Amino acid sequence: MADSTVKKYYDGLAQGKLLGKKCNKCGGVTFPPTTACNECGSYEQDWTELSGRGRLLFLSHGIAPPPNPRFNDLAPYGYGHVKLEEGVYVQAIITGVDISPDALRKHFEAGPSPVIPDILDVEGLPVLAFKAG
Ligand SMILES: [Zn+2]
Repeated sequence: MADSTVKKYYDGLAQGKLLGKKCNKCGGVTFPPTTACNECGSYEQDWTELSGRGRLLFLSHGIAPPPNPRFNDLAPYGYGHVKLEEGVYVQAIITGVDISPDALRKHFEAGPSPVIPDILDVEGLPVLAFKAG
């Protein structure tokens, strides 16, 4: 039976693991995992567990409704761009932050800050978020 990349990713997430793929040709890390390397397109990749440690580079929040109703109970929430120590960028919900305009401005002025994974259970689906502060 074929290995489902998506199922393995979500099974890992449910266990608190960030599973990605590491390319055997160029060494690039693809996260979330896909069937081909994001750097060179090679299909020759192996699973790798990422540390989850990263830096929050961008933090904002929106006034638009969440893109999927399953996130309604979380809204309003912070949303950001995280660079993981493996070099990949992830867009995710950011928890543990004040998302008032003043706090967002202070975050911007302070620059990148460390984050750790915060895996949310959203109606039974594990969702990767990051906790700041
Ligand atoms: Zn590659």
